[in-house]
Amino acid sequence: MKKILEVKNLSFDYENFNLKNINLTIEKGKFIGIIGPNGSGKSTTLKLVTKLLKPKSGKILLFGKNLENCTRTYIASKISFVRQEFNPVFEFKVKDIIELGALHRKKSFFTSIENQQKIKNCLDMVELSGYEDRYFSTLSGGEQRRVLIARSLYQETPIIIVDELAAHLDISHAVQIVEILKKLTKKGKSILSAFHNINIASKYCDYIYALKDGQILFEGAPKDVITIENIKKLYNKDFHIINHPKYNYPIVTV
Ligand code: ADP
Ligand code: MG
Repeated sequence: MKKILEVKNLSFDYENFNLKNINLTIEKGKFIGIIGPNGSGKSTTLKLVTKLLKPKSGKILLFGKNLENCTRTYIASKISFVRQEFNPVFEFKVKDIIELGALHRKKSFFTSIENQQKIKNCLDMVELSGYEDRYFSTLSGGEQRRVLIARSLYQETPIIIVDELAAHLDISHAVQIVEILKKLTKKGKSILSAFHNINIASKYCDYIYALKDGQILFEGAPKDVITIENIKKLYNKDFHIINHPKYNYPIVTV
């Protein structure tokens, strides 16, 4: 399998938090999840991998190239990133937000005429047909989240990174988005996403990294990571784990 993103012995310090010795591998066509309690370092890891933060030590290789030496344009052609929070300062229309996903392909800003159909297709995929001219700030949290997923699709990158995939999404839209992304993995795209919802991660991920206090405690296939003992160690609480009656994957329940 082809490694398209490799993280080796990555460390990073905030004043009161240390990310320690993180090793991750993302292969072509795989859906990779990161789980772990609040403050365990999921978002920090994703920001390092997208070069929004600079590591203290360690290495990140993007298609074999040291990320340190990659330009923003190169990274934007390979990785699209849906951040946990996104609050644009200006009043952007939905179509403009999506258009921002293609800045690395363009010479000028907002020359969207020829791309209108493409924008429409991306909006159709996230069930927001006809939203092109709505102002982003007037949408619900879930609709905004889906616009950002549409932007990510429009960016057409081999790697899609999503921080808290199901954030602001009701269960039906969360499943809809995760299924769109899962389909994209069948076409060779790779997905890396942080999840609060362990059960969605359990069903859709090929491989899961479980973080706690800035370290990877467990990694592996969902059935190996999502066990009673591991979930107790991760969240300091007892949960029940049952097997999905139809699809045979572990489900965490109170
Ligand atoms: P998660 O995404 O798993 O909830 P984060 O990666 O956002 O966790 O945060 C990990 C830790 O780093 C938390 O303790 C958080 O308070 C701290 N942290 C995050 N961002 C900053 C920052 N800009 N400055 C200082 N500390 C931060
Ligand atoms: Mg986070």
